[in-house]
Amino acid sequence: MSTTLQSINPTTGDVVASPPVDDASRVAEAVARAREEVDWWEGLGFAGRKEVLDRWRGLLARRVPELARIVHDETGKPIADAQLEIGLAIEHLAWATRHAEKVLGRKQVFSGALMINQAASLERRPLGVIGVIGPWNYPVFTPMGSIGYALAAGNTVVFKPSELTPATGRWLADTMEQVLPGRHLVQVLFGGGDVGAALCRAGVDKLAFTGSTATGKKVMATCAETLTPVIIEAGGKDALLVDEDADLDAAAEAAAWGAFSNAGQTCLGVERIYVHERVYDDFLARLTAIAREIRHGDRQDAQYGPMTLPKQIDVIRDHVNDALRRGGRAVLGGAEAVGERFVAPTILVDVPEDSTAVTEETFGPTVTVTRVSSMDEAVEAANAGRYGLGSTVFSAARGPELAHRLRCGSTAINGIITFAAIPALPMGGVGDSGFGRIHGADGLREFTYAKAVARQRFSPALALTTFARTEKADTAFAQLIMVLHGGKNLLPAKAGRRRR
Ligand code: NAD
Repeated sequence: MSTTLQSINPTTGDVVASPPVDDASRVAEAVARAREEVDWWEGLGFAGRKEVLDRWRGLLARRVPELARIVHDETGKPIADAQLEIGLAIEHLAWATRHAEKVLGRKQVFSGALMINQAASLERRPLGVIGVIGPWNYPVFTPMGSIGYALAAGNTVVFKPSELTPATGRWLADTMEQVLPGRHLVQVLFGGGDVGAALCRAGVDKLAFTGSTATGKKVMATCAETLTPVIIEAGGKDALLVDEDADLDAAAEAAAWGAFSNAGQTCLGVERIYVHERVYDDFLARLTAIAREIRHGDRQDAQYGPMTLPKQIDVIRDHVNDALRRGGRAVLGGAEAVGERFVAPTILVDVPEDSTAVTEETFGPTVTVTRVSSMDEAVEAANAGRYGLGSTVFSAARGPELAHRLRCGSTAINGIITFAAIPALPMGGVGDSGFGRIHGADGLREFTYAKAVARQRFSPALALTTFARTEKADTAFAQLIMVLHGGKNLLPAKAGRRRR
């Protein structure tokens, strides 16, 4: 069995990194080390943790070009795109750090009329050690959505990056180590699915997974063995809706970015477009004109690069062929656009809704564009799939209404994937896109448990939880419940009297 892992530059074929593969005992050691740090880290309190995380944030911000180069080498994405995802990850770290105390700190809550003699408080306590398993497509932005929020909430982290991007993962852990030498707040593990499975079994207090739906199911099954809770951030088949009153230039620009940037290897990428029939031809012409000009491949000035995962090419080819076999047409690209490592922008029309090009995650620079007679039809089609990650609506008048009706975790109106860059907004899916949330207040709460405390301030007027309880107290309690909840419209007056 190979004891090292190689990450390969998908553009050049060069080896980027070859770290040793960790076995189950190394995984267990890392989790044990992380656990030893939990009390110390939690004990620093919100202010102490903020001080450390602010230092880490500063270091990350100063060294963005270095990390962007590693991400570029391991994934093949343009350096500017790598810089974009790193910058957004830093924004999220800042938000999590700044808001942790407000979201998670102890708060008084009203104890209710019945329990008025009690002072009630609620705080969110860290879970302990968080296992994070990441994908390769956004190897900084996606895991940091868990790592940053978990740390700000007072947990320590053991991180297994994708086997395609180990150098990126190592860089993140190394920089944290430079901020806090000798401590183990973020440790990194190297390996594939078996190392990920070992992390699921290692007794972490929660496992935050980002990756495909198929792997998410395996992760959940493995975590079930030890009743380890999970967050599943899985795949998507996001739709973009174009209404008849939409700004078509803006919609086409956004659709092109959503469908083709990062070679379509974006969980929140646009894979299906539904356009009102009154503007369909106009929109399609504008989208096609933009897509035709996108620079891609291994050229220096490419706007998107190769497929990071070579075997994804087969999935893309299958989906395109399925669409074409079933009556679809390629107005740009098509079967011949799918090469050995690179795929040219492909726009498919007249594709039946049960084609795999519409129902399955393609994860390539391809998109279907479908004519609809109303936005009701567009909403129905968008909601028909098993995924529910993100979506986009272009409409002048009906944006919020259409967004409300789309069954998915996030919707951008008249913009593209904008919600992911707003740290206060939670991100995650429904259906086969998973569950749980990263980012925002929900993202902080994910890595905590609710701790509820009731403190007696004075003796209760009615002593109810005692064997010395009197009949008088029982009667008074029944009357109190009647007064508080029995509203005369709800209960016939006679029944009330009879009980007395
Ligand atoms: P993947 O499912 O192949 O791998 C994800 C991670 O899981 C990797 O680190 C891998 O080593 C690990 N893994 C594999 N088998 C495992 C097992 N049995 N037990 C534990 N861990 C295991 O996904 P990928 O190809 O790296 O990433 C692409 C997928 O991720 C796409 O489906 C994309 O939509 C999804 N994604 C989702 C989000 C989101 O926020 N919802 C973000 C980015 C990517």
